[in-house]
Amino acid sequence: MQSLLRGIHHFRNGIFEQQRELFARLVEGQSPEALFIGCSDSRVAPSMITQSGPGDLFELRNAGNMIPPYGASNGGEAAAVEFAVVGLGVKDIIICGHTCCGAIGGLLDPTTVEKMPLMRTWLEHAETTRRIMEENYPDVPDTARRNIAVQEHALLQIENLQTHPCVAVRLQRRELTLHAWVYKLETGEVFAYSPEAGRYLPLAAELVPVARQT
Ligand SMILES: [Zn+2]
Repeated sequence: MQSLLRGIHHFRNGIFEQQRELFARLVEGQSPEALFIGCSDSRVAPSMITQSGPGDLFELRNAGNMIPPYGASNGGEAAAVEFAVVGLGVKDIIICGHTCCGAIGGLLDPTTVEKMPLMRTWLEHAETTRRIMEENYPDVPDTARRNIAVQEHALLQIENLQTHPCVAVRLQRRELTLHAWVYKLETGEVFAYSPEAGRYLPLAAELVPVARQT
């Protein structure tokens, strides 16, 4: 905890002072480039990965970067999506999964979340991911299995996003683009799903437009 307090002091007296103009502008309002939906995992740092700053990303983070289908949860996920899309008018939504994800691990091996009843309930929203892994990848070894699950899971969240009315409407108007990414902890690389290639590819400096079939 001590290091966090030192960090706050350093931020306030150093960085905040140096970038006063930026922070003064942000007081007036926000106009983020994208809604970033990522995992709560402490090793995934959206601003660092994307080298963005305050005001650039509207972030929604939870265990397993999940967006339950519209109406399936009373959590804050749907409200955050609605606020980003309708309130802030974001043009891009990124679902970013990551390797070594504990939530995906719990999904594939429920014994790891045995003593976490709320986590087990939350993971029910990822039942489709679990079923796809069970039925389509039965014989894949453990590590590869978890990586595939992370990839499939991000794509399923893209599908869930499309059940949200505010998202569906803007997709139909072609005012919104959805992106499925996977951050690889081991190398620092980000992979993006390419509908044309039918698989994840290393993210090029130019944004690969992503999922949507309309
Ligand atoms: Zn995770």
